Amino acid sequence: MTTKNSQQIVASVPQKGFFGHPKGLFTLFFTEFWERFSYYGMRAILIYYMYYAVSKGGLGFDETTARSIMAVYGSLVYMSGIIGGWIADRLFGTRKTVFYGGIFIMVGHIALAFPGGVTALFLSMGLIVIGTGLLKPNVSNIVGDIYSKDDNRRDSGFSIFYMGINLGALISPFIVGTLGQKYNFHLGFGVAGVGMLLGLIIFLATRKKNLGLAGSYVPNPLSSEEKKKVFLTIGLSALGIVVLGAILISAGILTINRFTMTVSILGIVIPIIYFTVMFRSKKTTADERSNLTAYIPLFIAAMMFWAIQEQGAVILAEYADKRTQLQLGGLKLEASWFQSLNPLFIVILAPIFAGLWVKLGNRQPSTPRKFSLGLLLAGLSFLIMIIPAYTGGPDVLVSPIWLVLSFLIVVLGELCLSPVGLSATTKLAPAAFSAQTMSLWFLSNSSAQAINAQVVKLYKPETEIVYFGVIGGIAILLGILLFVVSPMIQRYMRGIR
Ligand code: GLU
Ligand code: ASP
Repeated sequence: MTTKNSQQIVASVPQKGFFGHPKGLFTLFFTEFWERFSYYGMRAILIYYMYYAVSKGGLGFDETTARSIMAVYGSLVYMSGIIGGWIADRLFGTRKTVFYGGIFIMVGHIALAFPGGVTALFLSMGLIVIGTGLLKPNVSNIVGDIYSKDDNRRDSGFSIFYMGINLGALISPFIVGTLGQKYNFHLGFGVAGVGMLLGLIIFLATRKKNLGLAGSYVPNPLSSEEKKKVFLTIGLSALGIVVLGAILISAGILTINRFTMTVSILGIVIPIIYFTVMFRSKKTTADERSNLTAYIPLFIAAMMFWAIQEQGAVILAEYADKRTQLQLGGLKLEASWFQSLNPLFIVILAPIFAGLWVKLGNRQPSTPRKFSLGLLLAGLSFLIMIIPAYTGGPDVLVSPIWLVLSFLIVVLGELCLSPVGLSATTKLAPAAFSAQTMSLWFLSNSSAQAINAQVVKLYKPETEIVYFGVIGGIAILLGILLFVVSPMIQRYMRGIR
């Protein structure tokens, strides 16, 4: 986008009206709030839906498969952001792309609102993978568009937006989770779909008034010739994938395990291709190449961090269901409620962390050091789970306090790494690739979950000590290593903080 365009866009957005922020932030906040409500509500019950026996309303998968699917699904949801970014950039602009994404997501949840067995499950996943790829990176990108480059409300705008994400994630396990676990899974999924519908209504009703021109430009449009080709290719490939998939599945060649393995490999190959292309591009300057070199260890650290954080909805979710004391006096806890702990701690602690960084000013840790803190804390959140395994053993139900502690510790790490990570990505990615920085950042999460798809298969209550110990230990070792090489990374960052 040219500077002139971006100035025109900012001028078209009412600059006040939402806590002293541009009115557009209201629209984006609530769209993402409801989208995350639907996503995290669905995730809070999905693993149970998959492994609960058919007599209990589930699909009766074995636990190992259910875990692996959770991870693959999480990976694809963020991997598809690459395509979503490209579509916005070249075809529809961010605003339309967000809208189309919301529709896919809503229909995806509705697909699970009716008892449709495994077919409905995979159909829903496919729709939500596409929909989230279209919506998530683009809605975040529009946040950047409604502020001028030198507006000092920009960072706090992103923090408010981040609160919206976590508020949505906080309330939905109580609503979708309770309905799904106490009454009927399909009711839960249906309510997740209603959440996305509310998000779409707010988006449609307020976008003209609040967003002005933001997101309405196609930054790098395809010519109509190219468009025809692209539509043809998309159509043919979609058809090809469906036909090929159907043949491979019915011939017994494409099994869940093989599919999972393919995604795991993609999770490693895609970032390598991404970085190689950026490195070799003629548009990347020497300084930018140095910045990219600094970014690689940060990307790997982020992967390790998300690998642990995202297991909260997989391994720790299963732990909540099977290994945790849920009857507390007269109160019966639902296992899905534990999914609210992460966003709850984020909402409480994010302002404290933001204040802390401001207070520390120049004395605050550098970006690589913050990443290393994030890793150390993520590692610790797993190591702490060794204690109940050691004192209780695999057959005893343990106090819920262990999960609370584990989620609290990982959040302390998340607050050192996640908000800083996105901003580091925008600063360190080469300018020619800046439109893709959101996708690049989400790729760290995607790749982490792609690898998790194999790792989570190794969990067993009997070998919990080794499982939590090895993964937590690797994160801590990487954290220490990152701490040591931080000054070197800082040099490669060439003045960027
Ligand atoms: N919890 C974050 C969200 O849903 C995770 C995404 C990420 O930054 O990888 O927005
Ligand atoms: N903390 C996550 C994110 O920032 C939300 C979650 O894991 O529930 O959106």
